[in-house]
Amino acid sequence: MRYKDWFYEQQTENQRIGFRIKETIYSGYSKYQKIDVYETEEQGRMLTLDDLIMVSEKFEFVYHEMLTHIPLCVHTNPEKVLVIGGGDGGTVREILKHDEVKKAVLCEIDKEVIDKSKEYLPFTSSQLDNPKVDIRIQDGFKYLKDNKSKFDIILVDSTDPVGEGAKLFEKDFYQLCHDALSEDGMLVFQSESPFLHKDLIKDVFHQRLEQLFDISSLYLSFIPDYPMGMWSFGVGSKKYHPKNDLITEKADKIAKNTRYYNKDIHKACFALPNFVKELVD
Ligand code: SAM
Repeated sequence: MRYKDWFYEQQTENQRIGFRIKETIYSGYSKYQKIDVYETEEQGRMLTLDDLIMVSEKFEFVYHEMLTHIPLCVHTNPEKVLVIGGGDGGTVREILKHDEVKKAVLCEIDKEVIDKSKEYLPFTSSQLDNPKVDIRIQDGFKYLKDNKSKFDIILVDSTDPVGEGAKLFEKDFYQLCHDALSEDGMLVFQSESPFLHKDLIKDVFHQRLEQLFDISSLYLSFIPDYPMGMWSFGVGSKKYHPKNDLITEKADKIAKNTRYYNKDIHKACFALPNFVKELVD
């Protein structure tokens, strides 16, 4: 929602977050969603989809580092990684910091998001032309159905559970992720704000993750331009524990090239406030 020189994201019926805009860089519609890129006064470039903040230049590193490095610093040999969504490229950029990754498949339904990210968001899309990256313009649902037991790690870098993104939070989607993972595979997905999406987190955890994976867990990070600032990530794992099986050497090596993630954050991010523990215990 634009108002004079401000962009407002409607976070709840009675709450908005606003950013003063210098300039609207791009505004248009793809087949799937409204796409806007703003130059903001304080957060740098900002990508919104259907008027929901996806990426800001100032804060995106937190989200992309925490979605990626927790599983990749636990799995002993993450050679093949799948990203579902993630068209801005930030998650792929973080994945390729791990030398052992041989192939990163980016399955993004909307080519427009990739194209506009390449054109206007160089800080997230910088690795999308890397030879290790295989971009598939496809619905993640369909791609998973056709790719069983193929991936060591699957990262679901989705939009919010509305519109096109809603089905990436449904039970059969998690079953497809489970089946597309190798026998020691790990699934991590952004699971929204514990302040705003209690029921979603509870359902996803108890009705999907726990029923499909031997190990399931939730961790947190703090992303100022996401609703309420506190953000959660869900983990389903067939073999490795996302906290206890941290490979410290990997974390120390990656932390030379990160601004948020390090081995201490890796351990601390699984510490949950009581109101969040209640959702997943
Ligand atoms: N990385 C950003 C962040 O920091 O939160 C946001 C994620 S990215 C922009 C979300 C992407 O998920 C969008 O580009 C959207 O087109 C894509 N998406 C939504 N539903 C999808 C589906 N069923 N299959 C593949 N991609 C999908």
